[in-house]
Amino acid sequence: MKKIIIIGGGVSGLSAAWLLRSKVAAAGKNVEITLLEKEQRLGGKMWSIKADGYTCEWGPNGFLDSKPQTLDLCRAIGVTDNLHRSNDNARKRFIFSEGQLHQLPDGGPAFLKSGLISWPGKLRLALEPTPFIASAPTGVDETLADFGRRRLGGEALDKLIAPMVSGIFAGDPETMSLESCFPRIAELEREYGGLIRAMIMLAKKKKRDQAAGKVVSSAAGPGGILTSFREGIQYLPDALSSSLGGIIKPGVSVTSVARGGSVPYHVTCSDGVELDADLVMVAAPAFATADMLSGLDGKIAAVLRQIPYSSMTVVCFGYDRERIKHPLDGFGYLIPKKEGCSTLGTLWDSSMFENRAPDGKVLLRSMMGGACFPEYVHLSDDDVVARVSADLKRVMGIDAAPQFVRVFRHPQAIPQYTVGHGKRLLALEELLTAHPGLILTGNSYRGIGLNDCVAAAERAADEAMKLLN
Ligand SMILES: Cc1cc2nc3c(=O)[nH]c(=O)nc-3n(C[C@H](O)[C@H](O)[C@H](O)COP(=O)(O)OP(=O)(O)OC[C@H]3O[C@@H](n4cnc5c(N)ncnc54)[C@H](O)[C@@H]3O)c2cc1C
Repeated sequence: MKKIIIIGGGVSGLSAAWLLRSKVAAAGKNVEITLLEKEQRLGGKMWSIKADGYTCEWGPNGFLDSKPQTLDLCRAIGVTDNLHRSNDNARKRFIFSEGQLHQLPDGGPAFLKSGLISWPGKLRLALEPTPFIASAPTGVDETLADFGRRRLGGEALDKLIAPMVSGIFAGDPETMSLESCFPRIAELEREYGGLIRAMIMLAKKKKRDQAAGKVVSSAAGPGGILTSFREGIQYLPDALSSSLGGIIKPGVSVTSVARGGSVPYHVTCSDGVELDADLVMVAAPAFATADMLSGLDGKIAAVLRQIPYSSMTVVCFGYDRERIKHPLDGFGYLIPKKEGCSTLGTLWDSSMFENRAPDGKVLLRSMMGGACFPEYVHLSDDDVVARVSADLKRVMGIDAAPQFVRVFRHPQAIPQYTVGHGKRLLALEELLTAHPGLILTGNSYRGIGLNDCVAAAERAADEAMKLLN
């Protein structure tokens, strides 16, 4: 019987184990799968903490239903009845700029009326589809900032692109790679010669397809409805782990993966347990994977260590609804760096998912740190609370002290796909050919969203199946 070890019990490792087990069963193969997770708790970054009637998301608060991967997995494990879609508030997103919150415009007319971008900035944006804009430089891994300045202008970079990069990656657009972070945008520019042109062409195509009765997906942007579970996002790893049962060994930290004697791989754990495997799939963060693989292949470890991570602090504040004058009728807001605030933005969690706060209360979740403000993750809890309170007062006029406070720390929270990431992935691919049966998956490589992690897990499970044949 072949033995497969999966390392890491976040969404990537759990979904890889679940998908692999289904594929193995469908193929009628006799395979033993074991998943080793360092912590006693499964789920990695997915963790819904319940206290005083609030449901606080430690990490992700949902996935978008515009991509099929997580929804398909939910269908396969039979948990769609527990899904909880965010309400219409989640579609209204705001940017704090020059002393006020501006709703992100959702179309041309709203954009013209919006005070977020100045008239010169709007005129600069209007040039985007014209030949005055330089094309993408060939053979250059362009930063998101260079792309933004080139196509949309400096103001749109500061007020639209940079906040989006901080909202998704807690990243710095001056270092992040367009091609690695948003490959679809790079592709649209190549295909259509510009973003506005791409949006127009895709909207026309969507209309044609709808008229022809075809099922259509969203056009260019991420779109979709933010989706979670009534109990919080942790319901997903809980469901996966209870279905996987005895396959999972929690509280087991892998220290090294080496070549075995009679079997291909030998896995050593911190408690002295040693296991043999025909295939090893590592679904841990790149820096942890580097530590495990340093004895096996120093070059792989060196490339993995080049993937930087941003650290973050997530702060939950609960208030009596009546103490907050703002209608909180949206998803929340992001703050451009030049505003000089301490927080990256605040999500109005209980506005999107009402049951996240007790009746008559609201739950706000603010983010601090990231690649642009690394020093803030070292602040004490008291300083964090003071700075978040100051920002909430400045942005939303909240004077009241929160009745409920939780501060969550995420050291090395999110991998940063900086310039050169694509080359690093190619180098890894090449180096891994020397180690058949060693598979790397997880959010360090080709997407950090939950949908991306599940998509990567599916590819990893398929690769494992090929190797079993
Ligand atoms: C604050 C925050 C908010 C986010 N919000 C969203 C969102 O709203 N929507 C979205 O789609 N994405 C969001 N993301 C991104 C998303 O949550 C992550 O990309 C995803 O959960 C990563 O899953 P993973 O399994 O690849 O990694 P992880 O969740 O990091 O799991 C890796 C696992 O490996 C284990 N491990 C590490 N070392 C070892 C070892 N030596 N031995 C055994 N096990 C080990 C770890 O303990 C961990 O459980 C957010 C991320 C953060 C930090």
